[in-house]
Amino acid sequence: MKGYIHSIETMGLVDGPGTRTIFYLQGCPLQCAYCHNPDAIRLRGGEEITPERVVEIAKRYRPYYGQEGGVTFSGGEPLLQGEFLQKSLELLKKEGYNTCIDTSGIGNPAHLPSILPLVDTLIIDVKAFDRASFSELTMTDGFQGYLTFLANLDRYGFQGQVWARHVMVPGYTDNEQSMRDYASILRPISHRVDRIEALPYHTAGVEKYRRLGMPYRLEGVLPMDKDRAKELETYANKVFAEGLQKKRRETELTNQEKFKILRDHEVVSKEEQTAMFASLRKLPLLSEVAEEDVDAVLGEIILSNFKAGDYVFRTGDSPDLMYLIYEGQMKIFYNTIDGDEQIFYIYRDGDFVGGLNLLVQSPYRYVGQALTDCKIVAIPKATFDRYFYDSSVILRSVLTKSFERIRWTEELIQRLATSNASMKTAGLLLKLVKRIGVETDEGIRLELSMNREELGNYSGLRRETITRKLGQFKDLGYIELLGNKVIVIKDLDALEAYVL
Ligand code: SF4
Repeated sequence: MKGYIHSIETMGLVDGPGTRTIFYLQGCPLQCAYCHNPDAIRLRGGEEITPERVVEIAKRYRPYYGQEGGVTFSGGEPLLQGEFLQKSLELLKKEGYNTCIDTSGIGNPAHLPSILPLVDTLIIDVKAFDRASFSELTMTDGFQGYLTFLANLDRYGFQGQVWARHVMVPGYTDNEQSMRDYASILRPISHRVDRIEALPYHTAGVEKYRRLGMPYRLEGVLPMDKDRAKELETYANKVFAEGLQKKRRETELTNQEKFKILRDHEVVSKEEQTAMFASLRKLPLLSEVAEEDVDAVLGEIILSNFKAGDYVFRTGDSPDLMYLIYEGQMKIFYNTIDGDEQIFYIYRDGDFVGGLNLLVQSPYRYVGQALTDCKIVAIPKATFDRYFYDSSVILRSVLTKSFERIRWTEELIQRLATSNASMKTAGLLLKLVKRIGVETDEGIRLELSMNREELGNYSGLRRETITRKLGQFKDLGYIELLGNKVIVIKDLDALEAYVL
């Protein structure tokens, strides 16, 4: 595999943390008016290089990297050579290098889930703050794609930090309103942003355009005053920090609201509460709590009733509660980029969710919604830390559950990617047999809490497809359909043959 590079800088100090080797990749889909590397825009050209050669060069300069330094891919637009970039990052990561990409976010999104988890620092060029200025500056209509890139960083698996960069051109963005817009564009990724920069426009590249016989679109625009750029950069950082503070206050409010929702749903009947407390004491989770602490724990947890369709938690909720399903069923899902719902799990009596979120302090990434009327126990983080944190049995059970879910998600991904509709439908039915199947004289009875649409979302099929497939299985005598909510499995072996 080969990539194309424009040049290499061996001891770069500004493109990522510490001292770095910078590979400037050839090719860029944009044509920024101020680009000082117009010769890097063409994809084919420059020098060929292999990912292995990248690592060899990095090895030579490794002694200079220290604690923070490493390798940066800049451009051009590095994401344009997705496969080469991915392979290079994989090899570098294997050897423990710190990695950075300097990007304008415009590249083939198909590569992003394999590239972004391998990146420690993402330098994001913020070209402009609205569609019209973006088009004028870059000669493309990529603003919406750019915003989608930012909004989906976490979903693509990016875990690192962001350095935001904007080239400030006099007469264009050298004003406070633009800096407020700059801060606002970064708001959706504020939890990742570590640095916000405004680089003063300079005219060092103009000569290159003359030599190449290319027109220079900013002809006559003077270099940006460095002090003024610094002043405005400070202002952008101040506005951004204020936004963070506001967001934190809003989150705190949301947390208060979240507790209020739980309190609003709280079980009020004394008899019901006593009965729940009695059986909660038998749960493995509470069986580990010292006898003298059980009453204190039961006094701090919140027992709530939820109606089918109620939300229990949502994407982005802070990790300050874990949930135990005492009775009923809850679905865990996220909305895909296409707006579809992808269901990951159906939890039922005795299942818990959020233990790992509490342990590693990671916000909820999915939505939890009651599928049936549910009774849910919410355990606040403070209670978890005080009474559960030191129990190896509880920690092991949280980790085991997390592992089971990772395994199930891997299976789901494999099933969605490699199975046809019959296999997916059979796989789903077998999963349901394990979870809710009841042996009867007629066969294994599945009492469903999901409608056809949700069954489809669980198995990666459209509603019409799953309805058609169930109809086919019925005609083949594998199953019997009793209305919309009951399926009786008549021939388990036939279904298993699809997935084995
Ligand atoms: S994104 Fe960078 S390389 Fe591409 S045109 Fe703009 S300034 Fe030049």
